[in-house]
Amino acid sequence: MRPLVATVDLAAIRHNYALAKRCAPGRQAFAVVKANAYGHGAREVVTALHDEADGFAVACIEEAAEVRALHAEARILLLQGCFEPAEFQAAARMRLDVVVQGPQQAEALLAAELAVPLNVWLKLDSGMHRLGFDSAALRSWHPQLCRARQVAELNLISHFACADLRGDSLNEVQLECFLDLLDLDFDQRSLANSAAVTSMPAAHLDWIRPGIMLYGATPFADLSAAELGLRPAMSLTGAVIALRDVAAGESVGYGASWVASRPSRIATVSCGYADGYPRHAPSGTPVLVDGQRAGLAGRVSMDMLAVDVTDLGGVQVGSPVELWGAALPVDEVAQACGTIGYELLTKVTARVPRRYQA
Ligand SMILES: *Cc1c(COP(=O)(O)O)cnc(C)c1O
Repeated sequence: MRPLVATVDLAAIRHNYALAKRCAPGRQAFAVVKANAYGHGAREVVTALHDEADGFAVACIEEAAEVRALHAEARILLLQGCFEPAEFQAAARMRLDVVVQGPQQAEALLAAELAVPLNVWLKLDSGMHRLGFDSAALRSWHPQLCRARQVAELNLISHFACADLRGDSLNEVQLECFLDLLDLDFDQRSLANSAAVTSMPAAHLDWIRPGIMLYGATPFADLSAAELGLRPAMSLTGAVIALRDVAAGESVGYGASWVASRPSRIATVSCGYADGYPRHAPSGTPVLVDGQRAGLAGRVSMDMLAVDVTDLGGVQVGSPVELWGAALPVDEVAQACGTIGYELLTKVTARVPRRYQA
């Protein structure tokens, strides 16, 4: 068997969910499990949080169906709402909570014949300018939706654009925009993603929506997961599959982009971009070989990558390699690659077997 596996620590996910709940005492939480639970496996994550989570949030109805099959009772929030009118009937049959993020969705809802009314989350565009109604449009839709026979609860939702930048003035603007609408009658309110769960208590309201923090990565550029008390959930581990010495002046990998500046020892590792490791990771990106820090050498290949282990002791063919995880934060690797932990976690491909620790 190829030595590459993504080990998922379900106890860490339960710990991180509990931490999110402690940040917002008395509030309810939608555990965000879109995109296959950020690459961790929606089935296993939903099962692990089955008894704890107040609800789950997903991007689309296909993801919602997967969660509903595992959990008959939980509230399941469809974050982008329905993409076509017929989905409202399916959403009602599955008893989903549905975001309504624009006039086409609102009209389709009001025209739908539903078996049971839906919990509707009217989306406010408080400043992200991606989805949602502006304040004036939301005020004008409110009375009609309040009275509609298709609507059970009428709720308010919005999303932060810069919650990852603590103290950014847009956060306050968005929060105020949200609070300004609360003279209208809503059953439930929800605004906080992971960043706001951990840093903006005024945004907690009725339902928080933690995503990335459940998986033990940080939503912030300047505050680590460990500082937040989070435990990393996924460890991506491979092994050294070959070792060689190269002379000064010799190159390593495609494009010969890395050239040894001294006699060097190169370990070839069983992980490549077809596994989801970023091809654009530069030389020097941290990798843990046998528990010791080393740096990537040269371009990432489809199925392999190379690491400069010249300064490490005891490395052998078969030595374990952590690409990220319990001992090397995914956020550090992401930073070296000019991206965020979210992208690395969600991009681990189906080729990589997931192994679960209860
Ligand atoms: C993905 C998503 C979240 C979770 O965001 P994190 O930064 O991962 O906590 C919350 N709300 C909405 C609308 C989302 O799309």
